[in-house]
Amino acid sequence: MKKWFLFTILCGWLFNLPIYPQSTYDRYFTDNALRVDYYHFGNKYEDYATLDQLYEISPWAGSRQNLLDTLNLGDYMVQVFDVQSNRLIFSRGFSSLFREWQTTEEANSGVQKTIHETLIIPFPRKEIRLQLLKRDSLNSMSQIFWETTINPDSWKINREERAIGVEVTTLTLHGQPAESIDLALIAEGYSDQEKAKFLSDCKRMIDHLFQYQPFTRYRNMFNIYALFKPSAQSGTDDPARGVFKNTILNTSFNTFGSQRYVMTFDTRTLHDMASAVPYDALCILVNEHQYGGGGIYNFYATTTVDDPWSPFVFVHEFGHSFAGLGDEYYTSQVAYTDFHHKGEEPWQPNISAHPSGEGLKWKHLVDPDIPLPTPWHQEVYDSLVENWYRLRKDLTQKGASEETVYQAELAHVNQLKQFFNSLPYGNKVGAFEGAGYQGKGLYRPAVNCIMFSKAAEKFDPVCQKAIEKVIRFLTK
Ligand SMILES: [Zn+2]
Repeated sequence: MKKWFLFTILCGWLFNLPIYPQSTYDRYFTDNALRVDYYHFGNKYEDYATLDQLYEISPWAGSRQNLLDTLNLGDYMVQVFDVQSNRLIFSRGFSSLFREWQTTEEANSGVQKTIHETLIIPFPRKEIRLQLLKRDSLNSMSQIFWETTINPDSWKINREERAIGVEVTTLTLHGQPAESIDLALIAEGYSDQEKAKFLSDCKRMIDHLFQYQPFTRYRNMFNIYALFKPSAQSGTDDPARGVFKNTILNTSFNTFGSQRYVMTFDTRTLHDMASAVPYDALCILVNEHQYGGGGIYNFYATTTVDDPWSPFVFVHEFGHSFAGLGDEYYTSQVAYTDFHHKGEEPWQPNISAHPSGEGLKWKHLVDPDIPLPTPWHQEVYDSLVENWYRLRKDLTQKGASEETVYQAELAHVNQLKQFFNSLPYGNKVGAFEGAGYQGKGLYRPAVNCIMFSKAAEKFDPVCQKAIEKVIRFLTK
């Protein structure tokens, strides 16, 4: 044994070969990535999928150590098995627009829908079986709704260059893709004259993101790329106002009937553009002055760039798309009717249906002297917000300028800050009722957070821990 060991060392030294055993990653995967485009279809209750197209792209940007998902985030999960050994070799949670659509009035009315989605997994060396799973009512990722085998040698895998004409600017480069968070910021609705504006918008958003913990602390873990391809026209679609713009990523306001919700269903073009760089996360910057954005876990985030709140929205939406954080607010109108099913514990790390006991996910972060549920004068908050909505409606009806509305909102935000600071548990972790679009029955970890209101100056400690967990998972 000892002789064999010495022989191996000698060979390694002579031929400059690695002397450690082949890693699990290298045994099953190449350096590249497999992009799986598929159609996700069904109705309110049922999910189905069918293959659209496979692509080989380069390189795989995710972790080579953490191949199996331990984060347990997202509505869905992709699982990859080696066919020969039937061994699970890769898994990753994600969410999508389809699941959100299932909670809308349109889905309630019984219609069916098809949405295009894209997954990125490491490129397999041998035949794999790929499964898509969704959560059951007990929140366990147990329901397989699509299964297909993929032969990596198949001529059906498209290997062409997909990012022709995309101009890449590297904003920060700190490490190898496998040990870094590779974030691609993608231009949407910028004309060919507006590349400099796009780059300055990117820097503004990124500088704002790194003002918040834990991003400040992990800044050196991020590689950030700005991807520019001009749109024929500036801006984005605003169909409720009759505005239609021909833009590269086909984003639009009013997704699922919610005016400020700016999303795209064109994930094909999005991933074509993104393939210019290694990427773990995608953020679309929409060249538009109206307030708006959106973010879905391990899918993508969007924000408009020229509203005074845009940098805040960028950070909030990145919280959704990067770390699976849920919306803690409950007073704004949304398009969903039953986003969090009654009686079920949400998978989002910062929302719980259990105000106390072991069911409260962040119980270990609550000091023993904090009452659960934690009192916070919800009725006062509700009346402050109601007053603001009334004032905003009034100002809008009178045709007030955007600046006037913004100044009025700033005054409201300052009022909220004073209210939060006056609360006895204003800076504590507890279980505060009102979260996930519901005033009752769901709880959040702190009175205020980036995921709750614009009056927040930080992510609450539970959200910070959740973000940190994802950073560590992706960079190991
Ligand atoms: Zn949100």
